[in-house]
Amino acid sequence: LVPRLRPFTSTIFAEMTALAVKHDAVNLGQGFPDTDGPAGMLDAAKNALFGGANQYPPGPGRPELRAAIARHRQRYGTEYDPDTEILVTAGATEAITATLIALTEPGDEVIVIEPYYDSYAAAVAMAGAERRVVGLVEGPDGRFGLDVDALRAAVTPRTRAVLVNSPHNPTGTVFTRAELAALAALCVEHDLVAITDEVYEHLVFDDAEHIPLVTLPGMRPRTVSISSAGKTFNCTGWKIGWVCSTPELVAAVKAAKQFITFVSGGPLQPAVAHALDHELAWVEGLRASLAEKRDRLSAGLADAGFAVRRTAGTYFVCVDVRPLGFTDAADLAWELPGRVGVAAVPVKVFTDHPDEWKHLLRFAFCKRNEVIDEAITRLRKLV
Ligand code: PMP
Ligand code: GLN
Repeated sequence: LVPRLRPFTSTIFAEMTALAVKHDAVNLGQGFPDTDGPAGMLDAAKNALFGGANQYPPGPGRPELRAAIARHRQRYGTEYDPDTEILVTAGATEAITATLIALTEPGDEVIVIEPYYDSYAAAVAMAGAERRVVGLVEGPDGRFGLDVDALRAAVTPRTRAVLVNSPHNPTGTVFTRAELAALAALCVEHDLVAITDEVYEHLVFDDAEHIPLVTLPGMRPRTVSISSAGKTFNCTGWKIGWVCSTPELVAAVKAAKQFITFVSGGPLQPAVAHALDHELAWVEGLRASLAEKRDRLSAGLADAGFAVRRTAGTYFVCVDVRPLGFTDAADLAWELPGRVGVAAVPVKVFTDHPDEWKHLLRFAFCKRNEVIDEAITRLRKLV
């Protein structure tokens, strides 16, 4: 393995899930739902499977899916030409990797906000670029916010792009309009491309609102907006994602993408098109149920003695393990499945500064209520 990929030989999700299976633990580590997506979407997939949609779809994605993605983006007031400005990918993961490979040269820098989704660092490395990491900062209210000054300080003449994830995994932060405006101003000032990971766009709670960065002044020509069906429609295994951007940027991403997977998910593409057009009411129900699950798990974790941070979006909640007498959440995470039968993920593995983040542990709440309750019962035995 080449040196630049040596830090990436395994993923925390695979490791923790293996440990959870070994100990028959309740797995609140890897984030995946334990119920299926809308029946109409599953039916559409079945019909496509038996209706002959089993050969290569077109390189940019099936036309009905690109049209549905364009209609879906109109909810934010942004128009895209389905023929030139939308590309279907193998999940958001491929979209992010292909974008970085297409847009960065060895020596270019990409600003990554930490904690960051694990694939970002690996994707920047595969592209041969360098990551410049800027940390979120915890406010007195337990919200992790954007440090605009630190972000500004991280820009150098080599900075090419900034990777932005909101709603944010793992902290559950949803960036405010003011934070996004500062980010947009920086991108415009320094001529940076923004790569936005919006896979949790529909999973926002209370008064939080998902505002795509592309809707801010000056951003339409320089934003690669990425999302996927996995979280929105409870189908993380389908890996249908997409890129929306300018014709030039989409053509660039397509140049890389077509030699990574070429195409994928043929019969699933019409089903996701159906879901984007007809299942957003179902998604509203999912969102309402996830808001309740967040409250359920947050209350249970507080009862078990953790200091619970506020989650405004995604299906993750972070807790501080120090009130229970632990100093490193990773030590606890490795112990937890064997000791009480629950799996969670330490936040520090998503950072370049493990010491600053070592007190935090992430739990997923995209699970049936009885599963959440069982996890809470088990975690109470920790004290
Ligand atoms: N970005 C973030 C922030 C995620 O949490 C995930 C899913 N775990 C992905 C990207 C990957 O999305 P997909 O499964 O569509 O590749
Ligand atoms: N997105 C999920 C998470 O953050 C897991 C994805 C994966 O297993 N790679 O937990």
